[in-house]
Amino acid sequence: MIRVAVAGYAGRMGSAVVDAVTAADDMEVVCGIDPHAAEAAFPVFETVDAALDAAEVDVLVDFTQPDVVAGNLAVALPRGVDCVVGTTGLSNEALQELAATAAEGTCLFYAPNFTTGAVLMMEFARAAAPYFPEAEVIEFHHCNKKDAPSGTAVRTAEIIAEARAPRMSEAPGRETEMPGAQGARGALVDGVPVHSVRSMGFVASQEVVFGSLGQTLTIRHDSWDRTSYMPGVLLGIRSVGERDGIVVGLENLMA
Ligand code: NAD
Repeated sequence: MIRVAVAGYAGRMGSAVVDAVTAADDMEVVCGIDPHAAEAAFPVFETVDAALDAAEVDVLVDFTQPDVVAGNLAVALPRGVDCVVGTTGLSNEALQELAATAAEGTCLFYAPNFTTGAVLMMEFARAAAPYFPEAEVIEFHHCNKKDAPSGTAVRTAEIIAEARAPRMSEAPGRETEMPGAQGARGALVDGVPVHSVRSMGFVASQEVVFGSLGQTLTIRHDSWDRTSYMPGVLLGIRSVGERDGIVVGLENLMA
């Protein structure tokens, strides 16, 4: 049995992880970490440090907050606990720095998106990018999301920028924004405009809109339920034991 600790277990994603791990027959939740602790069927702790002192843990799953995830990983990785991280907001540099603190043989796996559909959306965007001079990303999330743009949108923009270099967009930018409407052309991530919509009714959706002479191509993915992330999270939990160092992106684990 893989012994799993869930940081943020009382949150929207954390509670879905608890359900998915509990339903799997090769892993179990040995403890949860959340300062806003709810009643649970396993021991709960306020900090990762306290949890790792008290429980034998193979894998820490983190779905917490952008401002606490680095602190959690800085405790778990040097102690040799493999980490599966879904919390967004960490820069590539921060991930690399944290991975460098890991004990030998320990793996840090971060996926900006754990759904297979979003991973494929990014791969399709990579394939399309060389053929379209214009590309913009529009992401749609529930209004409790704490970071904008989403980690998926940032990764998609990075992939488009890598795939289309040195081709540059000729679309008008911030210089065309009207006074009082700054931001209308989106945030530039590696030169790709990214627009963040926050509204009730959404879980997580994204469109990538490509344009060239006389044509557009739109790639769209929708997560309507948090169960959509769970096969990817379980794959991560099952995979980290055989790996070490840093792995970024579910595509690296998908067969
Ligand atoms: P949420 O606010 O519902 O849950 C976060 C939980 O973390 C809360 O219960 C909070 O009490 C807890 N928490 C706060 N500080 C903590 C600490 N120091 N230690 C442990 N727990 C702590 O948020 P959510 O909707 O579940 O999202 C969590 C994160 O996951 C966000 O960063 C979100 O962007 C990300 N996310 C990633 C994916 C993906 O596929 N990678 C998908 C959805 C959400």
